[in-house]
Amino acid sequence: MKCEEIQGMISQFNDGSLDTEKEAFIFTHMSECPECRAFLRSINLLSFSAQTEDFYFPAELDEKIISRTEKRKEKKHINIFTVKYPAYVSFSFGAIVILLLVLLFKSTLEYKQELHEAMENMQQQNKQIQMILNSYPEIQVYPKQANEIMVNTKL
Ligand SMILES: [Zn+2]
Repeated sequence: MKCEEIQGMISQFNDGSLDTEKEAFIFTHMSECPECRAFLRSINLLSFSAQTEDFYFPAELDEKIISRTEKRKEKKHINIFTVKYPAYVSFSFGAIVILLLVLLFKSTLEYKQELHEAMENMQQQNKQIQMILNSYPEIQVYPKQANEIMVNTKL
């Protein structure tokens, strides 16, 4: 008997449609034929996995999986700018922006203040220089004689 015929009977056996008296015959063949043993193993594995798929993946689960996959696909298409962030996220972001603006404004004010102070210092120094110049003692020219004019002068 050819292996092809035996394998036909093997698939019948796997389906449970083989006559019981033929079972001994195919098993005797398979004990000597590794090819047919491999055939039984492969069709048995196929039917087993088909059965387990039926068992583990009922129709409603399929639907769930499909709908979930579709939801995931939908989520992937959402633009980050259209995503509604939670209120606290937008709030803290806004707070940070305001804080930065305040800091920037404050530092500008401080810079202005420093500039103003520097100018005031310069003016003060100018005044001091003027005062120092003015504070030089008067040059006094004293008369040698009583009728001479006394001259007071400032630099
Ligand atoms: Zn064979």
